[in-house]
Amino acid sequence: MITVLLVEDDVRLADALAGALEGHGYLVEQARTAEAALAAPPVDIVLLDLGLPDMDGIELCRRLRERREGGDTAVIMVTARGDRRERVRGLRSGADDYVVKPLALEELCARMEAVLRRTGRRGGSALTVGAVTVDPATRTATCAGERVDLTRKEFDLLTALVREAGAVVSRERLLLRVWRTDWPGARRTLEVHVGTLRAKLGVPGVIETVRGVGYRLVPEESERCAAAS
Ligand code: CA
Repeated sequence: MITVLLVEDDVRLADALAGALEGHGYLVEQARTAEAALAAPPVDIVLLDLGLPDMDGIELCRRLRERREGGDTAVIMVTARGDRRERVRGLRSGADDYVVKPLALEELCARMEAVLRRTGRRGGSALTVGAVTVDPATRTATCAGERVDLTRKEFDLLTALVREAGAVVSRERLLLRVWRTDWPGARRTLEVHVGTLRAKLGVPGVIETVRGVGYRLVPEESERCAAAS
């Protein structure tokens, strides 16, 4: 699955666009500010609004490029129509392409596909940590080669943890990513799903609770995972 970071401070536009892109099979993470964008995990494509509250979008593009893992991330800038000087400046600062607002979804998707072809990213590649493998293309998970039966949300949660294996992923990030909510009341749902995942992976310690913060997939423990029968 192709991951997208949508950097946009207009909440309504961002939510609508994120929903539409997810309908096209993209996994979308959102950032409202440049600071949040710089703190987000690496993705395949960044959709970057140039008018952000805390930093010029062109400066942000440059900083995203400077990050260690930013080299092969595609950046598509989103600018207001007619802002030709901005677009030229954007392309010169390292953006792969730009689209103009108001956005036409089909055009955006076509441009994203073209940029991905150029950067050689196809997404859909399976991710493995220890004995655990998740394959976003087929939405299947295996433990030591054995298929693990997961619900849609359990799969999304495991994928989110595997993507950042070894690092603590905050409850807020997991709720946003898997349930698309930042409502604290949903934390109980998250806890329940973590409990089920631990049972299904056969090694409770594989998902560590970091109290008051979130969860961490423990790479060493994942070596011992075996699908619960
Ligand atoms: Ca804006």
